[in-house]
Amino acid sequence: MLNCYQLKNQEPCGVCNACLKLKALNHPDLHLILPLPNEKKIDGRALAVWKKHIIKNNQLNFEEWKKIIASELGTDKEPAISSEKISQITSILKLRNFEAKKRIVLIWYAEKLNTVASNKVLKMLEEPPDKTYFIFVASDKDELIDTVKSRLERIHVKEKISAQISKTPNTNNESDYAFETNTEESPADENFKKFQTWMRACHSKNIVELNDLNLEISKRKKRGYHNFMNFCINKLSFCCRHIVHNKEHAQSNEEMIFIRKFCKHLKLKTLVLLLKEIQSSIYYLERNANSKILFLSLSINLFKIFDEN
Ligand SMILES: [Zn+2]
Repeated sequence: MLNCYQLKNQEPCGVCNACLKLKALNHPDLHLILPLPNEKKIDGRALAVWKKHIIKNNQLNFEEWKKIIASELGTDKEPAISSEKISQITSILKLRNFEAKKRIVLIWYAEKLNTVASNKVLKMLEEPPDKTYFIFVASDKDELIDTVKSRLERIHVKEKISAQISKTPNTNNESDYAFETNTEESPADENFKKFQTWMRACHSKNIVELNDLNLEISKRKKRGYHNFMNFCINKLSFCCRHIVHNKEHAQSNEEMIFIRKFCKHLKLKTLVLLLKEIQSSIYYLERNANSKILFLSLSINLFKIFDEN
């Protein structure tokens, strides 16, 4: 409902892009946090496995989840919500929303937050990020720490939720990406090639390549520049999610190969810094900065970020 494009009598329509993505738990502004065994290698797979099961059975409980982890992920370590996961989400929440008006952080079995993680969550609730709703799902509210509990509004869910979770929407559709404004001058695959070239040039400080790119980019009108930057923000936010959740969204093979390679050498912190720089360049563009100079100074700032991180 928070993000539905076409509310009907205050009810979500269930058929718009935002509704479909939310139902399939695939919305980029939906951040899922769930108890996992403390093993790095299963992290990405676990989220996909959890989605598959929770979509089939929205009453899935913790004990069942433990059994699923044992049978499908091959570990019987006790699942918990780590403070590391909360830190990662905190840094993503510092960025602006990817496509929705409001974003949702859903913590499933919030009583499984360990003490350090609880305190980090508390900090987030004390200084809540912009346009963000937190949903804590807990089977026993008394297991939540009091300071966290006192900041929440309680909704008791008695009956079985009958809402059906539908099948995954077709995320192959290019128009799914809100930022991919496919203007005639810059179709998505051309933008992706430019994005790749730009990132490589910044990473390797290739001034010649950067100059060529700058000429091309500055030929575009202000709107074209704006579109390209939004496109890059979208791709870099895919990278963030790729690192945090190992989420592999439907994209072309070529894109996936690049993103995998690119992320191998990057920390989440670096990506967040890159995103912040690009976002602030859009701010200056909107205040009529010269796009040629802006692109160059932005690229130099990206050099530095790659260099220092
Ligand atoms: Zn809708």
